[in-house]
Amino acid sequence: MSLQRWIVKIYSREFYELLRKPVDIERLKPYVEHCKECMAAFIRGLADAEGSVAKDAANLGRIRILNANCRIIRYTAELLKKLEIEAKIYKRTMKRRFTINRRCYKRVLTCVVFHGHT
Ligand SMILES: [Zn+2]
Repeated sequence: MSLQRWIVKIYSREFYELLRKPVDIERLKPYVEHCKECMAAFIRGLADAEGSVAKDAANLGRIRILNANCRIIRYTAELLKKLEIEAKIYKRTMKRRFTINRRCYKRVLTCVVFHGHT
């Protein structure tokens, strides 16, 4: 089953809501990594709140998750790897603060990019 099918079927903002409080990834791990569906739900929550989806040249869905907290991004990449999805991490330094989907970001942010099946 592709990630896309998981994330469409199992949609949850709960894990993401947990991250809004002071981030304690170690505390979240047992819940997030309960099973593949839970990992996918967590990634879906992040992508929904702080992500963007675009089609690339090969017409594959390209999902990008942005976060100022590089620990969250690294953790997301780790989860994607467990789901056998290749992901790349980029670090961007912007000239000033900027806004995506009405959220304001600081100058340095990290993003993880991966392909979802469409
Ligand atoms: Zn589970």
